[in-house]
Amino acid sequence: MRFDAERVRKDFPILGQTVHGKPLVFLDSAASAQKPQCVIDAISRFYAHDYANIHRGVYELSVRATAAVEQAREKIARFIGAAVNEIVFVRNATEAINLVAASFGREHVGEGDEVLITHMEHHANIVPWQRLCQEKRAVLRVAPIDDRGQLLLDAFEEMITTRTKIAAVTHVSNALGTINPVEEITRIAHARGVPVLLDGAQAVPHGRVDVHALDCDFYAFSGHKLFGPSGIGVLYAKAARLEAMPPYMSGGEMILSVTFENTIYKEPPYKFEAGTPDLAGAVGLGAAIDYLRAQDLDAVAAHERELLAYASDALAEIPDLRLIGTAEHKAAVLSFVLDGVHPHDIGTILDREGICVRTGHHCAQPVMQRFGIPATARASLALYNTRDDIDALVAGLHRVREVFV
Ligand code: PMP
Repeated sequence: MRFDAERVRKDFPILGQTVHGKPLVFLDSAASAQKPQCVIDAISRFYAHDYANIHRGVYELSVRATAAVEQAREKIARFIGAAVNEIVFVRNATEAINLVAASFGREHVGEGDEVLITHMEHHANIVPWQRLCQEKRAVLRVAPIDDRGQLLLDAFEEMITTRTKIAAVTHVSNALGTINPVEEITRIAHARGVPVLLDGAQAVPHGRVDVHALDCDFYAFSGHKLFGPSGIGVLYAKAARLEAMPPYMSGGEMILSVTFENTIYKEPPYKFEAGTPDLAGAVGLGAAIDYLRAQDLDAVAAHERELLAYASDALAEIPDLRLIGTAEHKAAVLSFVLDGVHPHDIGTILDREGICVRTGHHCAQPVMQRFGIPATARASLALYNTRDDIDALVAGLHRVREVFV
């Protein structure tokens, strides 16, 4: 059955508005996705009917709130093919990666050891590793990418040494759209005994992810890019990894017993969930996953692929426009520069037309350095985008050229 984006748009109340007198054209889902009404309702219902702190309470409300949060954990586990005790609630992908760097990393990375990343990582998958390497006098190694923004897999493999303690790689690049061959990457690293963290922030909203099939050791993502609320994210880690890792943050909720002499921790995932988490955020993320599961995910992926092809062809017709990131396997992200126009000016003029695109370095400055540019404009698509949105973008870019070129 053909995917009906017009029907889906009606589920997202924000999309129905006008901005500067023009219909809103939202092309910034890679930064954060919009929320369907059912997610907004689930959060509101939770606060209106079931809200209390979890786990500690014996009373009805607390029991209900605990059940709601734990059901969300189950939904997430099922959604990505994990076991429930492998799902750690965090604030976002950034915190998930920091957790792994601080807990697993500090235990395993020593002086002279190596951490392997790639040239297309988001700062969230660079800076925690860089800090770890600085602290431990270890070496951060960076696998190169080609001019289309594709990882050079042979080079990646050659850069694995006996000192490599972890490989941390993005599943999908937010700045380029490149979809990495993460199954192969994991296989290559595991063949050399190297654990793998995948940054799935841009991957989970756009296709099926099965972490057990991928066999990665860690998988990180944020709720807000998955049509859920901001402030909640997920670290998946293999159960055996979580068992062996020391806590990241510590305090209440993550303990079985505390004396001034000693503390006994809870089992994972609770060992990694110190303090009161974003309870409504977890519930909202569960609702977002229910929403996505009710869609035909293959049809969603096909819709986005079709839109990407349509948009790529349309942008190719615009004089002086250059796409940055033209990988063979690409998600629906279009980063581009226009000769003679600063990306911020593109963004500002498009905004007057009601069109939201992101401009800047997209928290991936090394990618910009690789392509010799300071910034790009980026249009990123999701299931609620249509050809009309692309047509509006193209018309808006012609307007930009009228003003500047
Ligand atoms: N990794 C990638 C690939 C991303 O696109 C982002 C968000 N732009 C992040 C990590 C960080 O996500 P968050 O800001 O939600 O922690």
